Parts: sequence; C-alpha cells; structure tokens
Amino acid sequence: MLELKQVTVRYDKHLAVDGVGFSVAKGETVVILGANGAGKSSLLKAMAGVVAPEAGSQIALDGTSLVGRKAHEVTNAGIALVPEGRGVVGLMTVEENLRLGATPPRARHDEAARMTQVFEIFPRLKERRDQLVHTMSGGEQQMVAVGRAMMSNPDYLLLDEPSLGLAPIVVTDLFRALARIKQTGVGLLIVEQNVRVSLRHADRGYLLEAGRITDEGSAEELMNDEIVRHAFLGGDI
Ligand code: ATP
Repeated sequence: MLELKQVTVRYDKHLAVDGVGFSVAKGETVVILGANGAGKSSLLKAMAGVVAPEAGSQIALDGTSLVGRKAHEVTNAGIALVPEGRGVVGLMTVEENLRLGATPPRARHDEAARMTQVFEIFPRLKERRDQLVHTMSGGEQQMVAVGRAMMSNPDYLLLDEPSLGLAPIVVTDLFRALARIKQTGVGLLIVEQNVRVSLRHADRGYLLEAGRITDEGSAEELMNDEIVRHAFLGGDI
C-alpha cells in the first residue's frame, strides 16, 4: 500500500500542495483529477523523490517512509514515475530507452523478461525497437515512456497526464495498455485533466483543487458528482 498523509510542497512562499492524503493499493487504479496548476505534478514529484516535501509530510510504501529518499532510491523501492512530457531520450532507440529503465538493482536480474512483457503490452514498440525515439509520434513516445517505467519492475506506476496532447483514439489505446499493466498487479496512480477517459479506467479518484483534496469517491460516484462536473468543462463531462 502506498499511503500519503499531510503531504505539503512549497516553492518559496507558494504553497503548491497543501496537506494532501490518499492511498493506492497494488492492482488498483486511482486517478487524481485536477486543472492546470492544481498541484498534480508537484504531488507526483514529491512522491518520486524529485522535490522535497515539507517537514511533517508522510509518504510510505508498505509502512516504510520514503520521505527524504532520492529519486533512484524511490524507483528501487518499487515506484516508477512517467513524468509529464515523457522524459524519453529522443536520440536513442526504443530499445536503448527501455534498457535505461532497467538500471535499478531491483530490475537488473530479469531485464529480458521485462522487455518481453513490455513488447507484449506495446507490440508497436517491438516493431520499432531500433527506431530513434524523436522520429516517433507522441503516442508512440508515451508508450516508450510507460515501457521504460515498466522496465524498473515497479509495484506502483505514477503517471503525470499521460493523455496530454494525444488524439482520442491514441488515448484509448494507451489506457487499454494501462489496464493490462494493472492486471499484472501493479498499482496505478494517474493524474489527469481528462476526466472522462481517466474515470472510465479508474477504480477510485480524488479531486485536487489549489493543492487540496476537495472530493473523493469511486470512479462512478465522481463521474456523477456535481463538484467534479462543475470543476471541469463547465459541467459537461
Ligand atoms: P499543470 O497541469 O499545469 O502542470 P499541475 O496541477 O501539475 O499543473 P504543478 O505543476 O504541480 O500543477 O504546479 C502547482 C503550482 O506550483 C502552480 O501554481 C505552479 O506555478 C507552481 N510551481 C510548480 N513548480 C514550481 C517551481 N519549480 N517553482 C515555483 N513554483 C512552481
């Protein structure tokens, strides 16, 4: 279980995340819905050891605190971040990018099996394994980013707006692949502005507004929730 309590992120005087708490279990998909600037990326960065949360923040994996751990230590504990903008290396091939994901000690022993699994989830990547990533479409690059995170053998995958900038059909394919990853027992935490698609694929969700959780419920409850409807797309979801 991945558990957060009172997580706060501040940039100088600006409070980006304000006392946030929630949990994600293995094999579960949880979505955090939030508009631009709500604090979604800051929350994931704090979880991934990329930014330091304020004193008093609690982030724990199966009861062990992750606060103060460096990003590579968090990855090696079993949490992989797929950052906004993907973070893939354009001048390297698909296969080279995937191999980069297998550098944590927890992933080294079964690299070939992990790559086979990634190619099963994303057959397109197998076809394009020797292609330079910068020559690929946005959707394909997102597959590389998710595939690379899977190469670290994670228990939990954190995804920062995976649908951003992708065509609806590509988003549907991507979320289908994420559903397959969930079936392998990985816990998924997805932060998204795309309410409709993300709730369709989630078990539960939270609404993040100005750094605070203002609502939570099952995906179905949130889909029909007036607060969520009014926070996004003027009530039209
Ligand atoms: P977006 O979808 O636009 O990325 P978000 O929900 O991911 O938004 P964050 O990127 O976490 O939100 O930003 C939350 C707030 O913190 C915003 O007001 C943003 O301007 C501010 N912020 C983010 N990163 C920094 C930083 N490095 N320095 C100062 N302020 C920052």
